[in-house]
Amino acid sequence: MRINENFNKLRQNYLFAEVNNRVKAYEAGGKKAIRLGIGDVTLPLPQAVLDALHKATDEMGHSDTFKGYAEYEGYGFLRRAIAENDYNGRGIDIGYEEVYVSDGAKSDTANITDLFAADNAVAICDPVYPVYNDTNVLNGREIVLMPCSETNGFLPEIPDKKVDIIYLCFPNNPTGQTAPKEYLQNWVDYANKTNALLLFDSAYEAYVREEGVPRSIFELEGARTCAIEFRSFSKTAGFTGVRCAYTVIPKELTFGGFNVGQLWSRRLATKFNGVAYIIQRGAQAVYSDLGKAQIAKNIDYYMNNAKLIREALNKLGLPTYGGKNAPYIWFKSSRPSWDTFDTFLNDAGVVTTPGVGFGACGENYIRMTSFGSLENTMEAIERLASVKI
Ligand code: PLP
Repeated sequence: MRINENFNKLRQNYLFAEVNNRVKAYEAGGKKAIRLGIGDVTLPLPQAVLDALHKATDEMGHSDTFKGYAEYEGYGFLRRAIAENDYNGRGIDIGYEEVYVSDGAKSDTANITDLFAADNAVAICDPVYPVYNDTNVLNGREIVLMPCSETNGFLPEIPDKKVDIIYLCFPNNPTGQTAPKEYLQNWVDYANKTNALLLFDSAYEAYVREEGVPRSIFELEGARTCAIEFRSFSKTAGFTGVRCAYTVIPKELTFGGFNVGQLWSRRLATKFNGVAYIIQRGAQAVYSDLGKAQIAKNIDYYMNNAKLIREALNKLGLPTYGGKNAPYIWFKSSRPSWDTFDTFLNDAGVVTTPGVGFGACGENYIRMTSFGSLENTMEAIERLASVKI
């Protein structure tokens, strides 16, 4: 037996471990740090979701409403609610059978690679949400990094080298950047022209506030023949610990005579037994009138935090990116990421995430998130006011 030695090629996953070590050292003196680097939500589940979870739990206790194995692709009631609310209601033509419910966008953006040959070249942004890179490194695929910086507005350019699979994520983690329609249209046209596949992660689409900013790749003409979209209830509705997400694969998406949706169904049937009925009922409640109102309130809460953080950084003379249509605020200083991290921690007791942890092009940048409580965010801002950068 030989192990998958591609594990040796992964970048050391030391980022959050190192952040924790430094925070521990700071707090050892009895001080309390405020964590504004985390990518996890803090508000509890909306009441509409909780009520649905309780009701579905009770159903499992009666023989006439008990449910066993779930359907691999998700229950019709949830697939229909997703298609109708997230797509059809916004003028996008997606059928419910093109929606595949799952336990997370993390697993989906990684597991989708089961469908692709090992000799495809994969284009990935730098900096990036690490899952796309690591999963393809483990599969032994060639990675083509696309640098994202102030120079290109954090919108990667089409690589000179021909690539077969392109991961894009907007609103972006970690930069908080969104992509204009014309920009995404270029990628769709490139993919259709060159027989490439776009993997579009829109886990943060619910944070888009400005009119005209695309929330789905399927708003673009021609995307149905070249794109797959990943979405999640994690950041939209506080499901990070509940686990429910979905992937959209248009019926006409085919490569080399293979229908991609059918392959994905086959993969689900082989390796997955579906998301729990109770959880899917909870996700369905996200689309009730009450659910929609409660979720909008939670997102407003986080986006108010984002505004406060942006303003505080600007007062320090630091220009910020993101934080307007995304929960992430990204900023640059003249010093290495870890130096700025240390200054914020040691002089203000505020924890951030060093941008270099998301890729070499993240050096000098810092990511902050709006997922803390309002009280903590306000206290952090007060503490930051006296920091010298
Ligand atoms: N995609 C991006 C860009 C993310 O930042 C995250 C979580 O941080 C995910 C996907 C993971 O989503 P899920 O919780 O549905 O696995």
